Amino acid sequence: MAELTLTNIGKHFGGAPALQSVTTRVNDREFLALLGPSGCGKSTLLRLLAGFEQPNAGSIRIGNREVANADTRLIVPPEERNIGYVFQSYALWPHMTVRRNVGYPLEIRKLSKSDREARIDAALEATALGPYGDRMPSDLSGGQRQRVALARCLVSDPTAVLLDEPLANLDVALRASMQGVFCDFHQRTGATMVYVTHDQAEAMAMADRIAVMNEGRIIQLDTPEALYARPRSRFVAEFIGDGAVVPLTGTSHSDSACEATLLGTRLRVETDSPTPEMACLRPENLTIAETGDIRARVERVTYLGGRYRLDLVAASGEPLVTQSNTRYAPGEHIGLALTAPWAFAAA
Ligand code: ATP
Repeated sequence: MAELTLTNIGKHFGGAPALQSVTTRVNDREFLALLGPSGCGKSTLLRLLAGFEQPNAGSIRIGNREVANADTRLIVPPEERNIGYVFQSYALWPHMTVRRNVGYPLEIRKLSKSDREARIDAALEATALGPYGDRMPSDLSGGQRQRVALARCLVSDPTAVLLDEPLANLDVALRASMQGVFCDFHQRTGATMVYVTHDQAEAMAMADRIAVMNEGRIIQLDTPEALYARPRSRFVAEFIGDGAVVPLTGTSHSDSACEATLLGTRLRVETDSPTPEMACLRPENLTIAETGDIRARVERVTYLGGRYRLDLVAASGEPLVTQSNTRYAPGEHIGLALTAPWAFAAA
């Protein structure tokens, strides 16, 4: 079992808190993304799991084994945690061939040569590096170097693999194909994976669940679909996916539905909060309809390929976003029909 459990984790550097009361679990064989803005604590959380940092509060378990506990001062060192770590900077040894780089963790463990060679072959095969074994890292592209780092992880048969922005140095096209490599790796090995990124599209494309972080806390942990459809705060609504957040007033709950006023219109909203104050309007919540109750002016038009993104300002002043199959011109006035949006408490 490679379940990772963090209980009440606190970490500070000097006086400044980097993580506060983080309690969460990464399930066995799960691909979890840690997503949030720069400085929110993503890398610190990963480094605590790896054992490169120690918590100031709380405890960490890998499977059934406690590996860190701030109260008892238990600290299991990184090399005894059987965890793989992939860095943004690849961290390959420049003077060693690809094969030697990949096999190095096994040299340290003193495995027999035949066992080592078999494992290296399997790892190179799994990362499509078969033909590159005798090359030096300097003769590889960025994507190939990152695959070597992944293969080096794989040879040790780790309980879990931690990845810290592994694609940040690659161009857009290579990032997309490497996302496929990581997803294949996950499916093939069934490894528990924790993947740090500040790119929401990358997290949405790859992860089973995403932990959205801000200011040292996990503020919502859910599937990509649930984060998009049912954000529980303004921060998550704005950080994940496209759309606009607007205030709502006059909320009334009945047994089966919740109604509120937004953009000057009374309508049904979806919510799990007893006191919703904001609604998240995704582009698909707004349909262009000349007879629509909501009037808006087109501010900006962006061609997305096959359709257009429209930035709008409602007559009541709120910025909105929708999509259209036809081109509108900035300054045009349009009508909008609104389908029941998701609503949440502001805090
Ligand atoms: P980024 O996306 O920019 O890498 P992050 O979300 O990974 O950011 P962390 O690197 O975990 O954020 O940093 C969290 C906070 O802790 C930041 O305020 C950072 O400056 C601080 N911090 C991290 N490591 C150290 C350190 N070794 N010494 C002092 N402060 C640190």
